[in-house]
Amino acid sequence: MKRACIIGWPVAHSRSPLIHGHWLARYGIEGAYERAAVPPEEIGAFLRDLGPSGFVGANVTVPHKEVALAAAAHVDDVACGIGAANTLWLQDGVLHATNTDAYGFLRNLDDLAPGWAVPDGVAVVLGAGGAARSVLRGLLDRGVAEIRLVNRTKARADELAGFFGRPVHALEWINRGQALNNATLLVNTTTLGMKGDPALDIDLDALPASAVVSDLIYVPLETPLLRQARQRGLRTVDGLGMLLHQAVPGFEKWFGVRPEVTAELRDIILRDIAGGV
Ligand code: NAP
Repeated sequence: MKRACIIGWPVAHSRSPLIHGHWLARYGIEGAYERAAVPPEEIGAFLRDLGPSGFVGANVTVPHKEVALAAAAHVDDVACGIGAANTLWLQDGVLHATNTDAYGFLRNLDDLAPGWAVPDGVAVVLGAGGAARSVLRGLLDRGVAEIRLVNRTKARADELAGFFGRPVHALEWINRGQALNNATLLVNTTTLGMKGDPALDIDLDALPASAVVSDLIYVPLETPLLRQARQRGLRTVDGLGMLLHQAVPGFEKWFGVRPEVTAELRDIILRDIAGGV
């Protein structure tokens, strides 16, 4: 039986087992997808022993994505271009790594806001943590002409702007409202608006009526930011589709079937979120 897992610390909150478990059942595959709670001091050994432990691959979440990148013998251009890995697989005993977050982010945007990528588009990205890296990579790959990166700690935004190059420039957090002037897309990659966290405080007045507002958060599904945008009549994109789509390439590599993201799967995760797990 093929086994994969999600490696994180902590990992109890992860909904990946629910997603992959659903697909295993739906496609009648005899396999397993497990949680692996691995503390930072054990991650090196865990990754070294992934194959001998009987796993065909793994997803990797916080705080191990950079270590996973370094541990893999073969890293693809996508993971290199993001600077972190979230998907690992063994091929002839060799550990391979990629990152599917940018793919998941773009698929979700394409599904829920078709036509979002306009020529000469200007995107505003809030936050400069791990998730922002994937969003920036995705937007650059789609040819977004200008990306204004706004983060509470400006030095982190400066660092990312340096890593990704010219179309990305860093702005002060206090200027987040003005940064929206002429923007065609706003993406929140901060944790502000997550259940239990304060809401993101931003004035959306400067956003044109045609702009799209996207939030990576999916608990709650409609964050205060998305509600504010909807009430202004803007198109909104929640974070759940990104979570579902980023899981697709890993499942295909481990179990040999490209799974579908369906309304049924979305409902399963929504029910789980509503249950407050
Ligand atoms: P992270 O690396 O910890 O980054 C957190 C970001 O939030 C940083 O930019 C941080 O700013 C900012 N932030 C935190 N508290 C703030 C505050 N009080 N005021 C202003 N900014 C604040 O986290 P991450 O891994 O990038 O994840 C970010 C969010 O994306 C999380 O909500 C996560 O659930 C979500 N996410 C969703 C998906 C999906 O599939 N939908 C995938 C990945 C992540 P500083 O740099 O100043 O600390």
